[in-house]
Amino acid sequence: MKRSEFIKVLGLGTVGLMTNGIFFRPAYSKDPTKRIKNWAWITTDLKIPDDDWLRKFAVMRHAGIDAILPEIFNSREAYYGSQHLPVGGEWLERIIPLAKKEGLEVHAWMWSMPCNIPEIYERQPEWYIVNGNGESSVVKPAYVDYYKFLCPSREEVHEFIEKRVKELAQYDELDGIHLDYIRLPDVIIAEALQPRYDVVQDREYPEFDYCYCEVCRSKFEDQTGIDPLELDDPAMNEPWRQFRYDSVTNLVNDKLVPIARKHDKKISAAVFPNWEAVRQQWMVWDLDAFLPMLYHNFYHGDTEWIKYHTHKGVTALDGRVPLYSGLFVPELNPDELQQAVQVSLDAGAGGISLFHANAMDGNHWESLHATLRSVPVD
Ligand SMILES: [Zn+2]
Repeated sequence: MKRSEFIKVLGLGTVGLMTNGIFFRPAYSKDPTKRIKNWAWITTDLKIPDDDWLRKFAVMRHAGIDAILPEIFNSREAYYGSQHLPVGGEWLERIIPLAKKEGLEVHAWMWSMPCNIPEIYERQPEWYIVNGNGESSVVKPAYVDYYKFLCPSREEVHEFIEKRVKELAQYDELDGIHLDYIRLPDVIIAEALQPRYDVVQDREYPEFDYCYCEVCRSKFEDQTGIDPLELDDPAMNEPWRQFRYDSVTNLVNDKLVPIARKHDKKISAAVFPNWEAVRQQWMVWDLDAFLPMLYHNFYHGDTEWIKYHTHKGVTALDGRVPLYSGLFVPELNPDELQQAVQVSLDAGAGGISLFHANAMDGNHWESLHATLRSVPVD
């Protein structure tokens, strides 16, 4: 198709098409590894009847969504038939066949490090992270009550999280497992959120800095001869920062990824653009896909900010695996959503991921459909 015809078909002006002077890359390439893929996170909802899910999935598919991420563990209850977690309902079992009927991939979205199950924090308080003031996240969680994170250096914690991944890997029809909250708490929280929690974080403060539990301290001391609690300025100590990054990385690469691979499941994660602040060195993780949460409004950003961070992430991954820009729908009107998708693709994303499907109204879906349909076929 010639460019002039193409624009006519779209009904769009050149301004919209040529944002930033870069033309879209092919969406439906003959090379399947280069094909654009789009995702949608779906927050737990047990009340919607099957027929309504089928209708919703048909709308998503029509708009260009390829994969859904239903939230099946929220740090309190599992929404699948878990044998070791409190079960709030067998929602995953219901969703999978309905999504498959509409041709959607299903990736189980699970929270990883936070654990708000009373039986666990009452019986195993030592599993939980401790801040630079020596306070446990069970007793004094940062920012919000649910910031009760488990310590990524502890073997028992690894086993607890591995159990979840193993259970999910047993679902034959499930395409993948999606790790969320696979990190430590934000030592510096996104700038637009600081007033909400009444904090001013001009540097790293011990109250929000983790983990200084006995296991983390002694493992670091074994490696370096230094007790991190005795550091004058822990934020400036590179080996101590790296130790925290590695503690999460080792859990992902050495424990969780092998389970997914063994059962032929894809494994992906929701990650932070400002990864240092949550001790999440995701660019070295051995995953199949990365979905950075490019929630521009949390950082006083705009669509240019989304473009910048998409490009930065794609560059960090060096083409090894695809990155899908996570977009915050509640702060994007249909026109802005279109722009956000365009800049993400311009910057080299393999597609986008919507946070979240429930926030999309009819105009959003129509806008997404028009945007994705406008991506040329090669
Ligand atoms: Zn620890």
